[in-house]
Amino acid sequence: MEKCEKCGRQLKADEISLYFKLVDREAKNFLCIDCLAEKMKVTREMLEKKIEYFREIGCTLFP
Ligand SMILES: [Zn+2]
Repeated sequence: MEKCEKCGRQLKADEISLYFKLVDREAKNFLCIDCLAEKMKVTREMLEKKIEYFREIGCTLFP
């Protein structure tokens, strides 16, 4: 299981998929949703909404 590059927390599949979608499709290191929100200067809630959105439109990265 992948871990957050910054805080070391174990990542959920959704967090890895979100990182692929928003940051780098070729990524090998990932950030958890909290560290990603901080990096992107958005709230965690905004990123959670994005995950919901990608799932709703049927993105294959979010089963
Ligand atoms: Zn983190």
